[in-house]
Amino acid sequence: MTSTIFDYVVVGGGLAGLVLATRLSEDSETNVLVIEAGEDQSSDPRVNIPGMWPSLIRTESAWDFKTVPQEGLKGRDIGFPVGRLLGGSSALNGLAFSATSKANIDAWERLGNPGWGWESFLRSMKKAYTPASEGIEATGPIQLSVPEADTEWQSAWMKTLDTLGFSTSSDPFDGEFSGALVVPDSIHPLTKQRSYAGNAYLEPARSRPNLTIWTKTEADKIIFNKSNGVVATGVQVVKDGETKVVEARKEVIVTAGTINSPRLLELSGIGDAKLLQSLGIDVVIDNPNVGENLQNHPLCTLSFQVRDEPGFDTIDKLARQDGNAIAAAMEAYANKKGPFSRSGSNLAAQLPTPGLETTEDVSKLRAQLQTEVLNSHNEPFKSFTQFHESFVNSILASPKEATGCYVAIPGFAGSNGDGWMAPPPPGQENYFTVAVLLAHPLSRGSVHLTRSSRDSSALSIDPKYLTHPLDVEIMARHLQFVEKIATTEPLASHLKLDGKRSPSAPPAGSFADLNVAKDYLHKTAVGAHHFTGTCSMMPKELGGVVDAQLRVYGCRNLRVCDASIIPITPRTNPQATVYAVAEHAAQIIRTGS
Ligand SMILES: Cc1cc2nc3c(=O)[nH]c(=O)nc-3n(C[C@H](O)[C@H](O)[C@H](O)COP(=O)(O)OP(=O)(O)OC[C@H]3O[C@@H](n4cnc5c(N)ncnc54)[C@H](O)[C@@H]3O)c2cc1C
Repeated sequence: MTSTIFDYVVVGGGLAGLVLATRLSEDSETNVLVIEAGEDQSSDPRVNIPGMWPSLIRTESAWDFKTVPQEGLKGRDIGFPVGRLLGGSSALNGLAFSATSKANIDAWERLGNPGWGWESFLRSMKKAYTPASEGIEATGPIQLSVPEADTEWQSAWMKTLDTLGFSTSSDPFDGEFSGALVVPDSIHPLTKQRSYAGNAYLEPARSRPNLTIWTKTEADKIIFNKSNGVVATGVQVVKDGETKVVEARKEVIVTAGTINSPRLLELSGIGDAKLLQSLGIDVVIDNPNVGENLQNHPLCTLSFQVRDEPGFDTIDKLARQDGNAIAAAMEAYANKKGPFSRSGSNLAAQLPTPGLETTEDVSKLRAQLQTEVLNSHNEPFKSFTQFHESFVNSILASPKEATGCYVAIPGFAGSNGDGWMAPPPPGQENYFTVAVLLAHPLSRGSVHLTRSSRDSSALSIDPKYLTHPLDVEIMARHLQFVEKIATTEPLASHLKLDGKRSPSAPPAGSFADLNVAKDYLHKTAVGAHHFTGTCSMMPKELGGVVDAQLRVYGCRNLRVCDASIIPITPRTNPQATVYAVAEHAAQIIRTGS
């Protein structure tokens, strides 16, 4: 074994890892090593050309994971990717860049995380991005753009939501937004290339002599000195087939993501002592919270056949790999236009719970809560479950808060029920899809080792999708509302409402019966790629793995700073929140507060 020494060893060169490494190495006296399991694909067109990201899924560039069979999904197991390349999931994600709500972030602080309220969080988020339009003062490395409306779908979507009473005017980044919106993409407006942790943060910092990046290097476990309390001193890695130990003079910072960070802690002896002992792993710190509180948005899609009118193009031909469509898209991209120049999932809405007309409607929903919820933010709480339910209770009937997030896609979108994207159904029909995500699921699960091995098959990933009864009630109402949107003008006129729909969807109008909507959810919902929570930031007695400074309980010189520390999941696509978490973490580490 050979040994090398750095001030900070950052494990995981993904979204958060590269933000931290870039910020920490701004101090030329501090030297930083980043360990990344995947390769540097910074010149790969599948990373850089926005519309090509799906081609990286199920390749060497992604960890290929699968949940255990999900009771709430009629026993289906759901496959999903996580980025395994420099930039992590930010190098292959779907590019949508949305802010979460003030209510969400303020709840993190009330949970026992001083310094994490909305105002300071917003300052950290603004360090990460430069907005697509004027009005927000932020000049961070991630560049945003809003695609040109080159079809009529955008206007039809926005007008339809307007007809339904949802304003389109306020700022979607102000923490208090609900309504229809065009979500910006993390795409550079001039180059029309993906803007991500790799090119926006790392690239300008790469030549710093105090910043070292090791790709194709996998962390095996964290090394500790236990002579005077537990202190993290380094990381054992496998690089070029050789096992090495790298030492951290100051800290080991784990940024391996929501699935891999708890896995690394457990492999290193931090976790539930009973579980670790049963797997033959030496226990360093007994904390049964490691790997718990796994959260993700359940997602359900409903596609409608379109009328194929001029100006209402869809991406179906492209998804069917039609040679002419691909050539046309490439030609358009050469002029920085067309479907490859954007995410394709920009039309969106973040909406309150539909169908709550009477106090009885609200009471019916509240009856699904399993704890005695708090009536005010000042009341003491007994458990994270009670706190979490109280948070959802506080927003579920508010017309100003969103419990469902909608993404409208001009084209077919869906899976065969196994989580992996499916092509459009056979035939020549084209589609318009509305995907709905449950913003704040109460169903929470876990990720744990089943063997002492780095193999992905040695993990039990159990998000427990749609097992909380309130999740099913709220999401089914949003699914009903998708039909309402589709049958409202002007959108209705552009869809063939008596035509083809998603292959497993019941006939038009069936969701009027809430039980039919619930059944469709259980049969077809999958998980979004928005995992959070497995090394949650909260007091240990409530379920925490890290404190408000992101220090691992029971250990010195070890932090976790990625999506896994998020205790209550953001209401929509998480990358903006994870960039903010990483910026916030960098400030804490550099200044101590
Ligand atoms: C397919 C997909 C689509 C998505 N679409 C969107 C979207 O449109 N909008 C949005 O907001 N969010 C989206 N997300 C989510 C978003 O990208 C993630 O929430 C975010 O990247 C999480 O950041 P992270 O730093 O926690 O983890 P990651 O960015 O995943 O980084 C973790 C890194 O750690 C590395 N690593 C793990 N274990 C080890 C080890 N033992 N040794 C060395 N390295 C290791 C991994 O290879 C990876 O590079 C998407 C995610 C995916 C997977």
